[in-house]
Amino acid sequence: TRPVKLSVHVHSYGKGRKLLLSRDITAVELAEAMRRDFVANVSHEIRTPLTVLSGFIETLQTLPLKEAERTRYLALMGRQSQRMQTLVSDLLTLSRLEGSPFPDASDWMTTNALLAQCEQEARALSAVIAPKGHPLVFEPGPACEIAGVQTELYSAMSNLVTNAVRYTPEGGAVRVSWTLLEDGRGKFQVRDSGPGIAPEHLPRLTERFYRIDRSRSRETGGTGLGLAIVKHVAQRHGAELQIESQPGQGSCFSLIFPVARIRRLQAA
Ligand code: ADP
Repeated sequence: TRPVKLSVHVHSYGKGRKLLLSRDITAVELAEAMRRDFVANVSHEIRTPLTVLSGFIETLQTLPLKEAERTRYLALMGRQSQRMQTLVSDLLTLSRLEGSPFPDASDWMTTNALLAQCEQEARALSAVIAPKGHPLVFEPGPACEIAGVQTELYSAMSNLVTNAVRYTPEGGAVRVSWTLLEDGRGKFQVRDSGPGIAPEHLPRLTERFYRIDRSRSRETGGTGLGLAIVKHVAQRHGAELQIESQPGQGSCFSLIFPVARIRRLQAA
């Protein structure tokens, strides 16, 4: 049971009459604490790259640097500003997901196209962060269409795929598949042979800014908002997000879409 906090007000009305009003303010206080936490997190995430940037600007202004050094500094500054852009873009995505109603009419898009887009992104990312690459396997499965908002679905799937690539060390495998379950639901699954996740972290993974390894997340361009975005998109599409993982055994993230959102395409 959760602790309950009550606000109590005594109103006087009439002669010697008192009315006692009590209200449960636990939820209100909790929401306020979460909002404060969120603002503190965002400020911290923005302040860090800003501090680095202003440090570099000062160095460039005050020190006579060789051309090669200047170029290196400018590249580092570029990385920091890219980091802030990604953060702001993830924050906007989250606030749109939380604040906008789900459209009445959905678009139908092919699972093949969604997977192909994810594959392109995963290969490009792997080439950048792991020079020896990752064996990436994409299994598009039965040709289907999903009903939903394309930008949202792509963002959720791509977050899962890029996480698998980012957290799996060089040479580790990532396998992405689309399958139809016996009951007609559709499953988008991303399996990796990375470090895996200890059970105590699992329930908190989709919280904004929750990270197990802060430095690995940052190094590979993470904002700590990816899985929060995935959770919202899943909820809006009536899909279920499943996470199975064991330390040392890799991780498996699945999005399971309801029958009503899946349409099987007949082979031509
Ligand atoms: P981030 O931008 O930090 O990756 P996410 O919300 O996408 O933020 O993920 C939250 C945390 O979950 C990550 O920081 C990481 O610790 C953990 N995580 C996510 N995906 C994986 C994975 N495939 N393998 C191991 N850990 C993961």
